[in-house]
Amino acid sequence: MSVATIVSQSTPSGFSAIAVIRLSGPKAIEIAQKLSQDNKPFKHRTAQIRRIFSKKFLIDKAVFTAFLSPESYTGDDVVEISCHGNIHICETTINEIVKLGARIAEPGEYTRRAFVNGKLNLIQAESVAQLINAKSVEAVKHQTRNIDGGITDKIKELKESLISILAYMEYELDVSEEVFLDPKTLKKVKKTLKNNLKTAKSMCNTFGQGGALSYGVKIAFVGKPNVGKSTLVNKILGIEKSIISNVPGTTRDTISTETTIGGIPTTLVDTAGIHLSENEIEKEGIKRSFKEIKSADLVVLLFCDGVEVVDINEDIEKIFVYNKIDLQPYTGEDRKVIPISASTGQGIASLVKQIRKRLGLLKANAAEPLITTIRQKSAMEKISTSLSKTLKLLGENVEEVELPAQEVRNAINNIDLFTGKTTTNDVLDQVFSTFCVGK
Ligand code: GDP
Repeated sequence: MSVATIVSQSTPSGFSAIAVIRLSGPKAIEIAQKLSQDNKPFKHRTAQIRRIFSKKFLIDKAVFTAFLSPESYTGDDVVEISCHGNIHICETTINEIVKLGARIAEPGEYTRRAFVNGKLNLIQAESVAQLINAKSVEAVKHQTRNIDGGITDKIKELKESLISILAYMEYELDVSEEVFLDPKTLKKVKKTLKNNLKTAKSMCNTFGQGGALSYGVKIAFVGKPNVGKSTLVNKILGIEKSIISNVPGTTRDTISTETTIGGIPTTLVDTAGIHLSENEIEKEGIKRSFKEIKSADLVVLLFCDGVEVVDINEDIEKIFVYNKIDLQPYTGEDRKVIPISASTGQGIASLVKQIRKRLGLLKANAAEPLITTIRQKSAMEKISTSLSKTLKLLGENVEEVELPAQEVRNAINNIDLFTGKTTTNDVLDQVFSTFCVGK
């Protein structure tokens, strides 16, 4: 099947100084020559100023940069056209390119081609999508590190180590035709496997931080009216967002604000005060509060002197916060309660630290590459399971090698699944559908 030449605008649609139209595929060079009515050859990684024509009419003068196969983002011939950022120029240019034999690219199709042509593995491709959508500088740093190697380098080491273990086992099975490992080799194999299992498990654990960086976390602030929810959210945000008043029920709807806590994209949800109300608008606000509580990663339950905590029976991480210590210090015995004053800011730093701890955001080492997608996490869990099974089999059958060797092969196959070396089309469709058009 011949590869199509694809085209799309890589920059957002609208009016801007420059827009970039990207053309990739075997006919990219020929189409760019026809579009500019100029048969001069293109040189690799060299920019040329050319004209864009629609039939006889000059549409724009633009910078054409060619990247010749295989040294391009996709691995195919690529021409990037930087024209003026006007929607009519872009639309006419793309229409001309389609008439000349290209078709419009699907979301993520350039990166999918890069993956198919072996320029990127699946982890790197996923990181490209997440880099574009990154909501904090911390997320940018981690995704860039994964594109540049990061988790891929770590998993390569793991695979090489497992291949060497398998080599010992296969030697026994095929060459010496023994079904047992000698005690010295068995000891060595077990030690390596234990280390590998530790690595796989610690990589799984990085998903707490990595997943939070990719998908963000949601924290709901819940309590009876007037306990200081809005004041606390505003204090954390450092800006005035919710209306603060001492009339109970001011926040009748939920208010969500995006911020970052320790580099993690975080949505803070200021909920309507939960209490029995006859007011229809308030009742609706309270209903929405419960909806937010159900979808939150963490709930901060506020109370203060004379106002008890709201009982929520949801199976969610909770932090109990006693507010207004500037008026009345906390005299209760519960050591889990964090005393604060949302007005003065006293205790807020401990609260934020506790929030990060409870969300598992203090565990990962900052220099460690992170697992950042659910797909990667479930593939890494499969690797862990295969390694645990291998160790169990080696323990049970003392030194018999046939079944543990099969489990090591499974672990290696699961590594290939993790990096996308073996992947079904469904998984690829799912991964690349999260991309924007033009990437
Ligand atoms: P919400 O209904 O739970 O969102 O409560 P608000 O944040 O609107 O606060 C209700 C009232 O309590 C306002 O008058 C706030 O200024 C006051 N308040 C909130 N936190 C504190 C605090 O730590 N100390 C004192 N003294 N007043 C507070």
